Amino acid sequence: MILFSNVTKVYENGTVGLDNVSFYIDKGEFVFIVGPSGAGKSTLIKLLMHEETPTSGDVIINDINVSRLKRSQIPYLRRRMGVVFQDFRLLPNKTVYENVAFAMQIVQASKRDIRRSVPNALSLVGLSHKAKMLPTQLSGGEQQRVALARAIVNNPAYLIADEPTGNLNPKTAAEIVEILDDINKRGTTVIMATHAKEIVDSMKKRVIAIEDGVIARDETRGVYGYEN
Ligand code: ADP
Repeated sequence: MILFSNVTKVYENGTVGLDNVSFYIDKGEFVFIVGPSGAGKSTLIKLLMHEETPTSGDVIINDINVSRLKRSQIPYLRRRMGVVFQDFRLLPNKTVYENVAFAMQIVQASKRDIRRSVPNALSLVGLSHKAKMLPTQLSGGEQQRVALARAIVNNPAYLIADEPTGNLNPKTAAEIVEILDDINKRGTTVIMATHAKEIVDSMKKRVIAIEDGVIARDETRGVYGYEN
């Protein structure tokens, strides 16, 4: 579970990123985070990932108060979270297989586990046949699928996706969200910040809308609700 309890983030220059935000996300949910540019979506995601700490309030993940995490506990938290970004962030000189394996190496997984889990993750995103290719030899949609395989290979409880379809055409974007939906159905909680109106409107998932640092809407089967 994820609990934001009266979370406020004021940046050093005085800008308010989030203003007294509270919400609860249960294990296994699929949640879209929407809102205009500058509303506070990235701030929310950075607080989740412990890239930023709240000015006040609590961010609680699996009963652990992330705001009070010891430095030594951060790798444990990160291991529970897979992340994908708009710009894929693959290692250009490593093959598809190596990019995914790398996520396991940095958490010191055994070679045996790596040999078993990487093909599974690539199969789940439909890229088994491209394992030996380099990112530059792939389309944008395929690169994002590699990033997804990398994000889930350690079997995280949470998958955080920050505008994962922002660089993709509508058809490819829909395919990526299908994979996110598959991942969610296998038990991973998915949190996706997005501007993709058509995707949000078609999926009928929970929508948390942020505007000016506060929650403007929190709907169970929500809509995007803005003009793009
Ligand atoms: P969104 O992701 O919805 O576009 P952000 O969370 O990036 O919104 O930004 C929310 C507000 O916080 C904006 O006013 C933005 O300018 C400000 N902000 C974001 N990051 C910083 C930072 N590092 N320092 C100062 N202000 C920031």
